[in-house]
Amino acid sequence: MIANTSDILFEASSAGYAVGAFNVYNMEGALAVIEASEDANIPAIIQLHPGSLEKGGDVLINLCLSAAQSASTNVSVHLDHCDDPTSIDRALYLGMNSIMADGSSMRYLDNINFTKNIANQIHNVGGFVEAELGRLSGTEDGLTIPEYQAKLTDPLQAVEFVRDTGIDALAVCIGNVHGKYAREPVLDFERLETINRNLNVPLVIHGGSGLPEWMVNRCIQLGVRKFNVNTEIRTAYLETVQALTTSSSVELTSLISESIRAMRDVIYLKIKQFAYVR
Ligand SMILES: [Zn+2]
Repeated sequence: MIANTSDILFEASSAGYAVGAFNVYNMEGALAVIEASEDANIPAIIQLHPGSLEKGGDVLINLCLSAAQSASTNVSVHLDHCDDPTSIDRALYLGMNSIMADGSSMRYLDNINFTKNIANQIHNVGGFVEAELGRLSGTEDGLTIPEYQAKLTDPLQAVEFVRDTGIDALAVCIGNVHGKYAREPVLDFERLETINRNLNVPLVIHGGSGLPEWMVNRCIQLGVRKFNVNTEIRTAYLETVQALTTSSSVELTSLISESIRAMRDVIYLKIKQFAYVR
């Protein structure tokens, strides 16, 4: 059933586990999240990137909301990395009330004002708002952020930012990156520990693809309640489509079912890994 992201994360915080937020681009992706969540009997978050919304628009939002409604588990639908108030208005209008207001490319005070306004708007409809402090490096759907701009989350500034904006969850930058890790990830756990000690909101890690299990565990012990996963699901999808389409006799229906299965398998493992209570 469709759920509020705040409720899903509150439950995870109470029990000491984390929830996966999985970026999807189409019906197959949405169905893969539902299937994995139902098979694991654990809540999940369907996540849409503005890049996919540009292509799928209202139809994609409605499709994801409808998929969440059909689930036997608690599933919410979340808009990832959005800095465009018009898209946020549209998402809220269609009934999607879980949004990441991404002002991380703005100057600090502009980021606070932008995020606070969006948070008020979303809270007026009982929704959930995530924001990011610091800046991730890497590439996600055409958003290339040069390494030199990457900054880690400042623990003291994080306290001020959460207080001044009223957000429900904070995405932290502790060495995590979008896309593929070029080498073994190096996460600043000391920084994460300080941030967690100073804040009472759930923490979010973007770039959850390719993090070794012990790092995932450590993050959860230090207050991370939501992991965003994109790259590994996308890879599973693309590899399946590529493998099947080398044959000229491929049935479109098998393409649908096989790509759902491939993404479901990746998502299922992530859900189980994140939800393992430490
Ligand atoms: Zn992200």
